[in-house]
Amino acid sequence: SEYCKSLPKIELHAHLTGSLSDETVLKLLRAKQAEGGANLPQSAEVTIQRGHKRTLEECFEVFRILHCLTDNLSAIKTIARDVIQEFVADNVRYLELRTTPKSINGVMTKNQYIDTVLEAMIDEMKLNTITIRLLISIDRSRGLDDAWDTLQLAKQYAAHERFKNLICGIDISGNPRAGNLVEYIPVLREAKQCGLKLSVHLAEVVNEKETLEVLKTELIDRIGHGTFIHPETGGSQELMQLVKDQGIPLELCLSSNIKSGTVKSAEAHHFSCWRKDKHPVVICTDDKGVFSTTLSEEYKICAETFHLKKTDLRELCLAAVEMTFLSQEEKDRLRQTILKDLDKLT
Ligand code: 5GP
Repeated sequence: SEYCKSLPKIELHAHLTGSLSDETVLKLLRAKQAEGGANLPQSAEVTIQRGHKRTLEECFEVFRILHCLTDNLSAIKTIARDVIQEFVADNVRYLELRTTPKSINGVMTKNQYIDTVLEAMIDEMKLNTITIRLLISIDRSRGLDDAWDTLQLAKQYAAHERFKNLICGIDISGNPRAGNLVEYIPVLREAKQCGLKLSVHLAEVVNEKETLEVLKTELIDRIGHGTFIHPETGGSQELMQLVKDQGIPLELCLSSNIKSGTVKSAEAHHFSCWRKDKHPVVICTDDKGVFSTTLSEEYKICAETFHLKKTDLRELCLAAVEMTFLSQEEKDRLRQTILKDLDKLT
């Protein structure tokens, strides 16, 4: 596990609010309670307790409570800083953070929310050896109007003098049982035309029709989870072939899938079949707080479960460079950094 920690890692699938550590959540909870606990559900403290398994539906209930704790700009600044510093401490050299812009009447606008996260990223990049980019999340449970609104926002930032290099794309996440991704395809198409990269949560639960329609668009740059795509894990030959033909990398989050119950065990995780086929995969945390994990821990679980050697782990770290949403020049620079750090390891 020390070895996994010392590896120079790349994190490509981390939701800001889901990444909050116990310390950060307690800090926010105490602050809320000190203010009288307005807006906080009675059961908040019990619901957010760590470590145990939750169904995917229960996870979304946890997010709802965490969002109550992060309903102001000062809290957003705190969580962005804390989460980034924790990834730094875990030897993450490149982080693509993702978050859903939120507005609260009279408290914050979506622009202020994103500004606050971006300023924290800039501050932490000055202080640490980490490069950070942001994916703006569209929540599929919020409907199409909100999605268009979020895309507008992303476009605005992509042209912003101070921030333009920091936004690298769009993520679609949110409860996979809510809404229909097919309806969001026009949004994806426009995002792509504007030069934004696309990472989409796909086949997180069984939904062959939706998955097929989205893959056929040939718009997707990375897949989040992709649990039910490979025929060996409940998908189909057709779905797998579409992913392979387009060479779409998969962001794989073992603890998240196991704890939320979409995958039975580490052994049964689709990491093994895609790896066996030599398809590009990247190990990620998803929500390191909600699922009580770290990126090092995820590497360790993969190493133990699939008997990976040190050289395999190094190759996984290095291969992730190609899956980032950086420009070719930035990838070259990141590869040099990772190689230099790997050289120092024994
Ligand atoms: P935020 O966008 O507020 O920073 O992070 C929390 C949000 O990320 C959740 O409300 C949800 O929309 C999304 N999210 C976090 N984890 C998952 C996951 O495992 N699956 C899906 N589909 N969405 C997730």
